[in-house]
Amino acid sequence: MVLEVHRSANKDEIRKAYRKAALASHPDKVPEAEREEAEVKFKSVQEAYDILYDDDKRHIYDTHGMSAFNGSGEPGMGGAPDLDEMLAQMFGMGGMGGMGGMGGMPGGGPRANRPRKSPNEEQAYEVSLEELYKGKTVKFASTKNVICSLCNGKGGKEKATAKKCSTCDGQGYKEVLQRMGQFLTQSTVACTVCNGQGSFFSPKDKCKKCKGKKTAEERKILEIYIPRGAREGEKIVLEGEADQVPNQEPGDIIFKLVEEEHAVFTRAGSDLRADIDVTLAESLSGFSRVVLKHLDGRGIELTHPQKPGQTLSPGQVLKVPGEGMPHKRSDARGDLYLVVNIKFPDEKWKPTPAMLEKLKELLPKPDKLIEAETIDEVEYNPQGDLDEFGTKDGHGSAWVDEDEDDDEPAQCATQ
Ligand SMILES: [Zn+2]
Ligand SMILES: [Zn+2]
Repeated sequence: MVLEVHRSANKDEIRKAYRKAALASHPDKVPEAEREEAEVKFKSVQEAYDILYDDDKRHIYDTHGMSAFNGSGEPGMGGAPDLDEMLAQMFGMGGMGGMGGMGGMPGGGPRANRPRKSPNEEQAYEVSLEELYKGKTVKFASTKNVICSLCNGKGGKEKATAKKCSTCDGQGYKEVLQRMGQFLTQSTVACTVCNGQGSFFSPKDKCKKCKGKKTAEERKILEIYIPRGAREGEKIVLEGEADQVPNQEPGDIIFKLVEEEHAVFTRAGSDLRADIDVTLAESLSGFSRVVLKHLDGRGIELTHPQKPGQTLSPGQVLKVPGEGMPHKRSDARGDLYLVVNIKFPDEKWKPTPAMLEKLKELLPKPDKLIEAETIDEVEYNPQGDLDEFGTKDGHGSAWVDEDEDDDEPAQCATQ
């Protein structure tokens, strides 16, 4: 129990523990192969010593525990530095004593590698096909953190000087060793005492506006331009418009385009597809009219037939070159594919027998009569449904339950 350090440990005891640990881990005292690891350990020991030996920090630690050390070095806000780890390094060194005496130390606080750029903010943005066809400029209000205008992101009063953070020796980050089973891994984490800044202001020196946070909320009108021809999944980037963080490049706001489904048009790349309704009379005798309203509001007019005697058939495809989606950064356009839907007359059509005779006379006759030796005239249901096709098949059994619900597959009655 040579080096166990209690909450009540005095400076002498801490210094002793430090000296012994430092000596044990001094890089000069270990074989070449272990030197790198020893150097890291040695640094950790010094850092731990810094906190415990500094009267102010020690006091905060003793009265509030680990939770007293928050990001800005102020007590009482939660979050924890890696002191526990450092202490583990320091006093767990060489198998001399443990951490038993420290008590009540929660496991490590948030740690992340210090990013050089603040996080990007990505969000989905729904756009209609019309907007993608024409291009669109959108303005919207956004609230974000910006560098405080009073202190210019300094965080303190004009003449005040920030205290160098002794935990990280003003670096803002530190190397820590983490135990992964029997291995020690080394990683760089932002210093939680100074919030990665390397220094902080005492309460009386803090900037009045941002209270030392260095940033303040600001409402800003942002504008994004969606170029015509933009596609689903494309990203519109507002560079540097994400929250500002002192000493970091601000991240970007990124809008990822989501194309709304359209009632009339279907898009594939730069081509468009739409169905058009044509009456049976029009398909046979022709027309010249607007068949479709395009995405920019223009009426698309077709004249049919192109040659006398031409008819339109159900499902026939009319390709209109250059009426698809615009290409980005060029005048080229995709094509428009129109699929013909022939509207046959419904029950509202009440032709006289004379009219029908006339039609029969005018329209082409069946190509060829089908000849057969035996002929049966059969009954039929004019409202047949192909969804039922094959569903009454069962397992080859001839008997089908009459009470069976129509939607369910038929089952064998003999099982
Ligand atoms: Zn400020
Ligand atoms: Zn620090």
